[in-house]
Amino acid sequence: MKRDLALIVKRRLPVLIFKELMATSRKSELLKIYKRLFQHFGPQHWWPAESPFEVIVGAILTQNTAWSNVEKAIINLKKQNLLSCGAILKIPDKDLASLIKPSGYYNQKAKRLKDFCTFFLKEYSGDIEKMFSEEIGVLREKLLSVKGIGPETADSILLYAGNMPVFVVDTYTYRILSRHGLIPDEISYEEIQSLFMDFLDSDAELFKEFHALLVMTGKHFCKKKPKCSGCPLEDYDSN
Ligand code: SF4
Repeated sequence: MKRDLALIVKRRLPVLIFKELMATSRKSELLKIYKRLFQHFGPQHWWPAESPFEVIVGAILTQNTAWSNVEKAIINLKKQNLLSCGAILKIPDKDLASLIKPSGYYNQKAKRLKDFCTFFLKEYSGDIEKMFSEEIGVLREKLLSVKGIGPETADSILLYAGNMPVFVVDTYTYRILSRHGLIPDEISYEEIQSLFMDFLDSDAELFKEFHALLVMTGKHFCKKKPKCSGCPLEDYDSN
């Protein structure tokens, strides 16, 4: 029995060491990127909001639009004291749509806000602490079951409203990593997410900053047509 065990350990050890080395190298590459971006842009302190509920509203409104448009819509909601589930559910759809018009797709987004509020009241009695005391995986699945909430929105809610250690992946994350050969062209949202969550420490603050820094890089440099000159990753080499 002892000999069998020794044999298994002997055979498995190189595989385990290889896996360990891969994990160490991936972690150091990701941290290398993080450090470069942080040095260039500084701390981002995301998400700009006064309450977790405001973060959730922002996460829903920011789909397919620039943040500056979301800000205008949130200001309109604040002026009318509408940043609560009860108030959002009470206001007629067309009035809500008109207030959030600056964020685009306003009829659809008004419906999404109401759908989320209905879910929030039904599942958690509108209690934000109750919602975020749920186990991460369970809450993520529940959020994804709400119409109009996809992985990026659900993960933004978990990370930025709930301080839960979940990495948010967006178009910029994909573009930056693929342009540097760190991921293949064909890859799923969850596979990219695992790259960060499996190899970095499970640290919500690190995930918040890292995502925000990737967004800044995408907005300022890694556009559809990349502007590599002056980009903090200009001379980054993953080999
Ligand atoms: S702009 Fe160029 S250097 Fe910067 S992240 Fe994109 S591909 Fe890399």
